[in-house]
Amino acid sequence: MHAFRHKYQTMAKLKYKFNKETLSFEVYKTSILKRFKRSVGFFVLSVVVAVGCFSIYAHYFDTPKLLSLRRANAELVLGLELLKKDITTQTDKILLQMQLRDNNVYRPTFGLQDVPLTVRNAGFGGVDRYTSKYGKSTYANLLMDCALQLDRLQRKVYVQTMSFDTIAHNALLIEQMAECVPTIQPIAAVPLHVNSYFGVRVDPFGGGLREHLGLDFAGKTGDKIFVTGNGKVATVDYSFARSGYGNCVVIDHGFGYKTRYAHLQTISVRQGQQVQRGEQIGTMGSTGRSVAPHLHYEVLYRNKQVNPLNFFVNDLEPKDLVSIMNIDITEIKGDFD
Ligand SMILES: [Zn+2]
Repeated sequence: MHAFRHKYQTMAKLKYKFNKETLSFEVYKTSILKRFKRSVGFFVLSVVVAVGCFSIYAHYFDTPKLLSLRRANAELVLGLELLKKDITTQTDKILLQMQLRDNNVYRPTFGLQDVPLTVRNAGFGGVDRYTSKYGKSTYANLLMDCALQLDRLQRKVYVQTMSFDTIAHNALLIEQMAECVPTIQPIAAVPLHVNSYFGVRVDPFGGGLREHLGLDFAGKTGDKIFVTGNGKVATVDYSFARSGYGNCVVIDHGFGYKTRYAHLQTISVRQGQQVQRGEQIGTMGSTGRSVAPHLHYEVLYRNKQVNPLNFFVNDLEPKDLVSIMNIDITEIKGDFD
């Protein structure tokens, strides 16, 4: 058994060649070099054929790895598109709500001017810096769009945080504000005696409808006039002409509030002076456009006259306020201007 296998294996390795002269098969011996050369040739040919086949295959069909990469790439692009959409619609909408609440509720509560939307939405200008960053990539436009939207968002959030900082600062000043807002009556008379209210009414000078942007308090020449909230004397005007406010003082209370005291007989404060609520600033008179001694009193918020009645929290009973607010202004008699 052993011997047979040995013989068989030996025979398998031999090659025979037909000798035409001897007309017999003879053992053909190839040199090692020849066999080596043949092997190398065969190997090279195999490699060439394999590479060729692979190239043709790869040209017409994606390899599984390439397929999965393509799929991942498509998912990434879709993800970016959705992200961009989210930034420009959802997030922006939430931020806009916050901006509107800030402008219409939070800031006015603390007497702050609103931040214009043009400031809130101001961009950085130019997209050059995105080009240098993403310009060479395949999805440059998409990436630059995303970066731009994110930058805009960051800018808006930054403005919003600044606004909240200001509000927080003002909230700390709320106590001070409570002392500054004009909430008491400017004359000592009790009960409060208002002759002319805020709004449109018949002009005491020759009739006709005319807007009256303050309250008129009747009294006697020389009655004491008191400042209605802490502040600083903004202007002191002397005028003895029979027109306008006459002798007049304007107090700046800060937080957007000012008060005007007109038709005064005398003035006992000077411009720039700090005044405390309840401090006397002058006496009642009838200077300027006035028909009888009275005080014309105005409250201004952001330089626009508002109804002073809304501020007399300490002096008016709610029922008085209601009856005053419901009064028919065309029936008011005894206007002083
Ligand atoms: Zn008046």
